Amino acid sequence: MSISIEKGKHAGEVIKSTCGRCKQLTRHEILTDVDLSGLDEAGDEFIFGWDDSYQIIQCQGCESIVFRKTHMNSESIEYVESKDGWKSEYLIREELYPNPEDERVTLSDAYLLPEHLNRIYSETLAALNSDSPVLTGIGIRAIIETVCKDQNSSRLGPSH
Ligand SMILES: [Zn+2]
Repeated sequence: MSISIEKGKHAGEVIKSTCGRCKQLTRHEILTDVDLSGLDEAGDEFIFGWDDSYQIIQCQGCESIVFRKTHMNSESIEYVESKDGWKSEYLIREELYPNPEDERVTLSDAYLLPEHLNRIYSETLAALNSDSPVLTGIGIRAIIETVCKDQNSSRLGPSH
């Protein structure tokens, strides 16, 4: 087995990646990266090759910076149709941190909320973003109860 390490191999390249702030696929520049690649020999003929890239990328729209990790290996191949017929490409597995799909950002005008409600809201959002569904559920209930109490409503829904 052999592993090699390379720095800055993709620096300056521009890729398409989902931006959590722009909420869409945008152009990102790879600011810096570290690449690890390896070859594992199993038996006389079979060679397994892989490539991991750890990158710091920046959205060219809103300038926010995230961490991106990609993985490729010689066994994961997909077939894509091009104008010259079908061809094989290495499948790239991508992870982003923070995950643009998961991360929910605070309401831009959350400061307008009454202080006690804002505190419950912030804690609930943190629970939601840290993948804690039970705590999130309790938080949402507390938000609804607090709003109802604030508005002097004893019941949910329209009154008759
Ligand atoms: Zn962006």
